[in-house]
Amino acid sequence: MRLVSTFDKILHMSGQPTSDIEDVAEFYAAIDRASLTHKISVERPYVYTTMEVYDAANGIRGAGGLGVLAADTRRTAEALEIPFVMLTPYYQEERHQEMTNLVPKDTYTPRSPIESGYEKVGDIAVVVEGQKDAILEIYQKILGSTRFLTMSEPNFGALYVGDASEDHRLYQEVALGLGGYAALKMLELKPAVIQLNETAATFAAVARLDELCRNGMGLYEAIVYVRKHTLYTNHTLVQAAEPEYTYAQFEKYVFPNLVSPALKHFIAGLFRNGQLKLNNLTIEIAEAKNCVSRMHAKVIDVHDLSGERVEFKAITNGIDLDTWVMPEILEFYRSREILDKFDMPGANFRDVLGQVTAADLRSIKKLGRAKLNQELQNRKNQYGQVVQIPEDAMLFEFKRRFVEYKRPWMPFEDMGEIRSILFESNAHYIMSGMMPGNVGSGDKTYDRLQVMLKNIDNDPFLRERVHYITDYDESLSAAMSAGADISINVPEVGWEACGTSFMKDIGNLTLLISTSDGGVADVEPPEVFEVRGDNYNAEIASLYEQMRAASAAVKDDTQWVDRVTKQLATYLPMICGARMMRDYLRFLFKTDN
Ligand SMILES: *Cc1c(COP(=O)(O)O)cnc(C)c1O
Repeated sequence: MRLVSTFDKILHMSGQPTSDIEDVAEFYAAIDRASLTHKISVERPYVYTTMEVYDAANGIRGAGGLGVLAADTRRTAEALEIPFVMLTPYYQEERHQEMTNLVPKDTYTPRSPIESGYEKVGDIAVVVEGQKDAILEIYQKILGSTRFLTMSEPNFGALYVGDASEDHRLYQEVALGLGGYAALKMLELKPAVIQLNETAATFAAVARLDELCRNGMGLYEAIVYVRKHTLYTNHTLVQAAEPEYTYAQFEKYVFPNLVSPALKHFIAGLFRNGQLKLNNLTIEIAEAKNCVSRMHAKVIDVHDLSGERVEFKAITNGIDLDTWVMPEILEFYRSREILDKFDMPGANFRDVLGQVTAADLRSIKKLGRAKLNQELQNRKNQYGQVVQIPEDAMLFEFKRRFVEYKRPWMPFEDMGEIRSILFESNAHYIMSGMMPGNVGSGDKTYDRLQVMLKNIDNDPFLRERVHYITDYDESLSAAMSAGADISINVPEVGWEACGTSFMKDIGNLTLLISTSDGGVADVEPPEVFEVRGDNYNAEIASLYEQMRAASAAVKDDTQWVDRVTKQLATYLPMICGARMMRDYLRFLFKTDN
């Protein structure tokens, strides 16, 4: 039985999802994989390995989309009752951000696994050549059919600390993969499959190879086996800094933790000019590989050691609807059978959506504004003040990591235009996203954001209407999707692997203005207010045009209901997390026997 939606629980930072289904066998049968009841079990779980999870309710807070997706994958597995283990580090510090005089400042709050409800299950030693062993403390937390298995030690360090190819990153990756695999063994768990969330997780598959060889299997037989049971998921279109390590680094951190000489010899053979890219190692040991949207799979340009372009399947990300869609809207979807018991689109969902009226939706959307205002009570804007959005005002929003390709400053390129749009629509604009951490001026993204905030500050009207909310996190993100009328998503085309923020908006009946990139571009032409243009200036003009068009649609009941329901009808099959899970299971277990 479903009790309470996690949307409320996220806001209150506790709890776990519940499900309508009696048994996972129902789901497996519905996706033509009834035999999975024999292949995946508590002792042989689906194992997901990731450097980052973003799940405040469970005391783990990552930095962005990769971690949010990992958390949603586990929640979806729990709702569907799939036996599932999440291997991930437990970082003992959590990053927050505040702002004084428009200057952001990072602060760190300590966290402990015990306080977050984990139990200690043992210690695992990681050998580092020439140093004392690192002793990883292993903690677990069981949530329905799923569990977190985390590793931690006082010197583990923060997420993405230092440079991608530095010693410490390799140590963290070894601790996650080799340490995490040893933790599975300690609990007598044997993975049915291992999903590697990016190459940083690759040592979990290496550990499995070592175990098979240690138990007497020949190396090539072991590789065949591990390849068949490993999935490599790539999330990076723009490889900012692809991790690459020297042989000396492997001799210090990796090889001392492996037993099989044949395996070490095999890995040594993958080095080129004394360097190994983790991509090259991962490609060799994972047969199934996927990207996270159609566009991403089409344009990814990864080559194996022989120079051959590697094929990636497209499995577009989804979100856990229970987490991100406000409960009243979800209740509406379920009661009208727009969603079925797996939280996948119901048999006639498009017809049903075609008959929905504005009156049906306006009242629940109003509740979204109230929820946002409730969330904003505990938040600060760029001036350190609490903001409330009037019930009768229109609201635009922008929320995402503030990185260059997402272009958070784009709506502020022409201050006259944004002023007149907000004025004519009686609109407010709310934005949130972590600023680059403690970098200061000289950093390009930081400097552009400073210019944006100063321009807003210098305009008496915009100063009252544009609210930058600090310390972006998931509860703010969910509340913004629920409480806004129009959401803006303008990544530079070709740079967004998928993006999930826009899915939260569509699920919450918020009109989307977007470039055709990432997951939005899975549908051609995209069913959104599309921003297009041959160059940046043309795109800016198109953005303002779409802001005016979306604003007109919000004011007109017929147009509004038509656009939000078409948006939902188009993207619902894609955004549900259960669909993503179905696609992964079908990809990993190609047939039902
Ligand atoms: C949804 C979410 C993200 C993911 O955003 P993308 O659109 O995938 O980049 C990142 N951070 C937070 C806090 C979120 O809620």
